[in-house]
Amino acid sequence: MAEYEMTIGIESHVQLATVTKLFSPADNDARNKGPNSVVDPIDFGLPGMLPVLNMRAIELAAIAGRAMNAKIASISRFDRKHYFYPDLPSGYQITQMYHPTILAGAVDAPLDDGGSVHVRIHHAHLETDAGKLTHYSDYSLVDLNRAGTPLIEIVTEPDMHSPQEAKAFAAELHKLMVYAGVTYGDLYHGNMRFDVNVSVAPVGSTELGTRAEVKNLNSFRSVERAAEYEFKRQVALLEKGERIVQETRGWDDSTGRTSSQRSKEDAQDYRYMPDADIPPIVLSEDEVEKLQANMPLLPPYYREKWAGLGLDKSVVDSILAHQSYAVLIASIQDNAGDDVAKRVAHWFASGVSTDEETAEVASNFVPEGYVELAQMVEANELSSTAAKEVFNELLTGDKTPREIAEAKNLLQVSDEGAIASIVDEVLADPASAKAVADFAAGNEKVIGFLVGQIMKKSQGKANPALAQKLIRERL
Ligand code: ADP
Ligand code: MG
Repeated sequence: MAEYEMTIGIESHVQLATVTKLFSPADNDARNKGPNSVVDPIDFGLPGMLPVLNMRAIELAAIAGRAMNAKIASISRFDRKHYFYPDLPSGYQITQMYHPTILAGAVDAPLDDGGSVHVRIHHAHLETDAGKLTHYSDYSLVDLNRAGTPLIEIVTEPDMHSPQEAKAFAAELHKLMVYAGVTYGDLYHGNMRFDVNVSVAPVGSTELGTRAEVKNLNSFRSVERAAEYEFKRQVALLEKGERIVQETRGWDDSTGRTSSQRSKEDAQDYRYMPDADIPPIVLSEDEVEKLQANMPLLPPYYREKWAGLGLDKSVVDSILAHQSYAVLIASIQDNAGDDVAKRVAHWFASGVSTDEETAEVASNFVPEGYVELAQMVEANELSSTAAKEVFNELLTGDKTPREIAEAKNLLQVSDEGAIASIVDEVLADPASAKAVADFAAGNEKVIGFLVGQIMKKSQGKANPALAQKLIRERL
């Protein structure tokens, strides 16, 4: 049995975070809006309408390009892609077929094993989204709220060779676009969707196999699962001596399978032609630079900044999953140093998990509170368990860590006199006699038991290091 290798290329649709649509003044945020309530005659494609290009979309495209290390075209244009569908009233989509705004680039996506996959970007083009159809038993309804929403479609070279690499790329591209402020990146609302092209070929083959394209995936996990499934399906066909047909397939998340939707044989002729209503976009190098002048910091910057902290990849990933965490940890690192930043990073990585929580707490991110909390742990005023408790309250309340610790009676006793009297009590207790004798006989390990007794007596508040020092002095 031959060994097979898979090859993957991904096309990603990214919804741009503009206020209005690509060619109309209608509201671009269709979430929680009544059907057909944010639609302009331009989006309806009414006769006589005249599209006007939204320059904010061009600015976001320039920023997206920079985030992907891509060049921006000095001249780009829009074309009409013709097809008939009820969610496309004008009969054509406006897209960039021949002269896209974003040219070749590359994204390096980190993998769980510590390596990374280098994925070249072929180009990315601007286009309008279509409307939405909802099908009922014997009729369908059309909602054009999304019609005319600006998208960029990012097309990679076929540079990925495993489901894990495909997932890592999708996740990194999503982070780049969200951090850059190009999109809200809300996957649940379809702000980013992935089409995954998969082919297989015998290992060492110089030609790629025939590909199948799995359309409209809306999570990183489904990108990974669809690629896994396609690899197995295609290898099984080849093993049976059958051929792979080039086709578009759909993904069913509940069954974990893909199924054929249409084959390339019935590929349409879209009759692409330049859209005469829209002048070309002409950008000098200076203009591009101006558009990109306020680039936000991106995930690779943070990874490098934190490289010396000794954080696990999973901790870094949890922090990077929320831009507000990343900004906070970086600011703490700048103001209070690596050790404090590391401590706070661990709290955030394990402390806050769901998106609702994030939304709620992000407004309370005042670095001073977390810095003070970390410093209290370093000064042995709080145990790490107690600190975790304070941290959880710090996220949602407006008290200082000291106020919280005091109210919860969590402050450790580091006053020598107070601990010394507890130490004396414990050592004099008959229950400790055996441990004291063992220690005298050279059994160092029993000191743990004695410290434990002191912690118990002090209700967990004695500073354990100090307690141990005092025991040693006495024995
Ligand atoms: P089309 O013009 O039919 O859309 P493209 O050449 O634009 O095809 O490729 C679309 C996507 O499919 C790209 O991301 C590309 O990397 C990927 N792709 C092309 N050929 C293969 C292949 N044999 N195996 C896997 N992916 C491929
Ligand atoms: Mg293509």
